[in-house]
Formats: sequence, C-alpha cells, structure tokens
Amino acid sequence: MELAERATILTPSLTLSIDSKAKAMKAEGIDVCSFGAGEPDYDTPEHIKAAAMASLDGGFTKYTPSSGIPELRQAIADKFKADNGIDYKPSQIIVSNGAKHSCYNAILATCQPGDQVIIPAPYWLSYPEMVRLAGAEPVFVQTREENNWKMTAEEFESAMTPRTKMVILNSPGNPTGSVYTKEELEAIVEVAETEDIFILSDEIYEKLTYDGAQHVSIASLSPTAYNLTITINGFSKAYSMTGWRLGYLAAPEPVAKAIDAIQSHSTSNPCSFAQKGGLAALKGDQTALEDMRAEFDLRRQYMVSRLTSIPRVSVVEPKGAFYVLANISQFGLSSTNFADRLLAKHHVAVVPGIAFGDDRTVRFSYATGLDIIKKGLDRFEEFCKSL
Ligand SMILES: *Cc1c(COP(=O)(O)O)cnc(C)c1O
Repeated sequence: MELAERATILTPSLTLSIDSKAKAMKAEGIDVCSFGAGEPDYDTPEHIKAAAMASLDGGFTKYTPSSGIPELRQAIADKFKADNGIDYKPSQIIVSNGAKHSCYNAILATCQPGDQVIIPAPYWLSYPEMVRLAGAEPVFVQTREENNWKMTAEEFESAMTPRTKMVILNSPGNPTGSVYTKEELEAIVEVAETEDIFILSDEIYEKLTYDGAQHVSIASLSPTAYNLTITINGFSKAYSMTGWRLGYLAAPEPVAKAIDAIQSHSTSNPCSFAQKGGLAALKGDQTALEDMRAEFDLRRQYMVSRLTSIPRVSVVEPKGAFYVLANISQFGLSSTNFADRLLAKHHVAVVPGIAFGDDRTVRFSYATGLDIIKKGLDRFEEFCKSL
C-alpha cells in the first residue's frame, strides 16, 4: 500500500501539536499557562449566534449556491467597498469554509508543478504546505527584525525567477504581528507587476491593529494591483468564529470563476446557517469587536514591556494580530528544545519558531486572559534566568 507523494511530504501542524500537549498536561491536573492559542479567547457575539439559530429554526438547512448565498456575497462586496476601498462585484466573491480554505483554493487555481511561490519568513505555517499540495515550490525570503519582520521590495525582487508565479503577503501578520504600510505595499506591487505575479493577500487580521497602524488592502492600490491580487478574509479572528468555518476571497472575474469551479467539486457550499451568522456579523453591531481589540491592545503592551525587560530576549513590537514573536537565539537552544523545556519544567506553552520557518524565535499568543499572561511571563522569566 503506497500513499501519494503529496501526502507524504506534509508535516502535521506543529501549532496544533503543542496545543494538544498543553491540553493533555492540563487534563492531568497540571496548571499550564498556554500562549499557544491561535484563536480569540472570546465567545462569538450573541446576535451572530441568534441569526444562525433563527435560520436553523426556519429550516435553512439545505445546499446553497457553491460560492455562497447572494445576500452574503453582496454584504461582503459592500464591506470591501466601505472598509477597504475596493470595488468587487458579488460575482467576484467566493465564500468558503474558512480563510484557510480560500487560500488553498486560490493556490490550487493558480499554481502548478514548475511554479514557484515567494513566501516571506517567518510565515503562517500552512502556506508552504498548500503550495506543495498544488505541486509548486515555496521559495522563502528571510525577513529581518531590523525591518520589523517585513519583506522589502528589493528582497522580493532578488528572490524572483522566471518561474515565480505568486507572492503571499499576510498583513497584519501571523506570527510576526507586522503591518505593512501603503508605501511598502506599493513598492512590492511595482515589482510584482513587472512579471505579472499573482499576489495572495491574506487579510484575516485586518480588524486587529494597534498604535494607529492602518491596514491597507493591496487590491485598493491601483488597477494593476487589483488585477494581480486575490484578497482573502474571513470571520474567524474578527468575530471569534473559528469553529464556524466561514471565510471568503475576492479576485478578478476569471480567477474567481476558476476557484468557484474547484470549490463546487470539492466542498460545495459553506455551511448554510453559518452563512446567516456571517451576514449578521457584517451587518450588525461592531462594538464586541472593538472591545476585544482594546483588550488585546492592553495585553500586547503588557507582554511587550515584560518581554523586553528580560535579558537575552528581544522582541519587535507587533502592530497587529494577537502574537508576539520573541527572539530567543541568545540562549543557544533550538526553538523546539527551548519550547519543550519551557513546557516540561515551567508549564508554559509557546510555539517554536521552526514551525514558522525561523528557529531563532518562539511565538506567544495573547489571546488569553491577563492573569494567565502575568503568571506565564513570571515563569518564563524564571526559566530564562535558569538557562
Ligand atoms: C487563523 C488564520 C487563518 C485561518 O482562518 P480561518 O478562516 O479560520 O480558516 C488564515 N490565515 C492566517 C494567517 C491565520 O492566522
């Protein structure tokens, strides 16, 4: 019995495995402080749940159009116009089973064996695996702390080859928390347009920015940028809807059509009543989101000030998402060894940076209560002193 090569080249998600180790320790009664969370520690707002429940009660339990119900696609088009300054028609929007699913569909529709996809590192760990599943080759550009973990247009250009098909950008970024400025994005578009390279713009954290950092959608920059870009977004992070599995993308018409065909033959439509919840999320009251953002901001500031005060640890202050990436290379341990020892001896869970393509770092999530953050950082500080 032989598996397909595409199945054997994949590495299981390391973020999920750390999380399950921490959960197993908790189940044994150990008091674990986990900084592993990749999702908000908030419940989905009530009005969103109510809309989904009402649709279930009303019998909205059947297949929908594969790319989503018309009213949700329209609401997403309205959102793109209002929040991002992009004109997309509903026909250019494909609602999916999560932003991750949208990324995968977009890569499958555009990349094939022989193609290269440029990914700035540290990166969200699923991008390279999705590229490999499409038979294409990920090409990594190591970004620098001095540049706030952002890829410059020059670095992008020097990684380009005649085989480059796509570049993946994620701003605000996971795991770095970096937010690209308009000028930085414009410079990257200028390079991409010389060779008609697709830009996959994962904007799932757009609502979580701090210190006045502005989220800019690449597709809004110019007609050329619009034609090259596939914009990804979803409900998971802004509306604490990770379990609902609901996301979307928008793309130039022919690209959207191809993606719809892929989706219609693989997963069909996203969950019917989850779409009604998504509609309520976009159209309803946004105060829960702002409250969550404000709380994340407090935690972020606390974490950065604590981590900065620990000798041999360095951090770049994140301006978005809910992660802090700490450079722990001065301790002379691999990120996995460091994280394993921290969890085993001090019961603190962090994600080793190797998962994101950077073995000098570990990722802290602040999607957890301030009490746990304080206790966890006390333990972390003790651990660092002991090394
Ligand atoms: C969480 C996350 C996603 C996945 O979002 P879903 O809508 O839950 O699939 C996509 N991209 C990044 C960078 C993320 O961190």
